[in-house]
Amino acid sequence: MFLEVVNPDRPTGGFKFAVFDFDGTLSLIREGWLNVMIPYFVDELAQTPKCEELGEVERVVRDFVEHLTGKQTIYQCFQLQEEIKRRGGAPKEALDYKYEYLRRLDIRIKDRVEGLSAGTIQHSNLMVPGSVELLQMLERHGVTSFLASGTDHPYVVAEANALGLKPYFGDRMYGALDDYKSFSKQMIINKIIEDNGLQGSELLVIGDGYVEIENGKGSGGYAIGVASFEADPGRVDEWKRERLIRAGADIIIPDYAEMDVLENWLFPSSLPS
Ligand SMILES: [Mg+2]
Repeated sequence: MFLEVVNPDRPTGGFKFAVFDFDGTLSLIREGWLNVMIPYFVDELAQTPKCEELGEVERVVRDFVEHLTGKQTIYQCFQLQEEIKRRGGAPKEALDYKYEYLRRLDIRIKDRVEGLSAGTIQHSNLMVPGSVELLQMLERHGVTSFLASGTDHPYVVAEANALGLKPYFGDRMYGALDDYKSFSKQMIINKIIEDNGLQGSELLVIGDGYVEIENGKGSGGYAIGVASFEADPGRVDEWKRERLIRAGADIIIPDYAEMDVLENWLFPSSLPS
């Protein structure tokens, strides 16, 4: 089923603002980042005096990395510091781990960003299917869209531009900062609500992670959980789906390929029935 309704009683139709997560929700540029972060963190823990056997360390790392997905990267680095201390090691600064992770990830994704900019990779190959059509559909309905990502701000802007998404967001793109306390998805959502005197029900939150869904729901927004299977778009990622439902998603979709169904659901009075 394309559109799974989790909370049938929530009204739709009155949306004025939308907050999008970026990675896994629109962009697939960073697909595979788990396969960079997990081996790197396992390597760091393997050097500690009281390290368990490798399989157990891998399990620990996978658990906390996945649990913290959707928050800013620095929170995963804070947890790595804790795990190093717990095993008798002396951790580096959390920012050092973040920079090294980004350096390793960059090796993996550099060709993608360059290919997009050079035109050798089509935008649609590195986006969740239907992303542009969704942004256009929201625009037709007078909805203003914002980006709020746990990825660092300069990368979010560069990658959104490389994907041709700037026209839909303008300067409404937010991302993590090295001063991690000065940014959170909740801050962005609160700011949009305050600046525009919104009712929560006028706010649409669209994301593949539990953080934005939880924050959006906490502010009274309507939450679309995107259970995108990033390595093979079009399928439902069951791990994401389960977490998104637990976080309070009102509907679950794998992507935006069936735009008529989605538009009819979000703006029920606008299409002929
Ligand atoms: Mg995401």
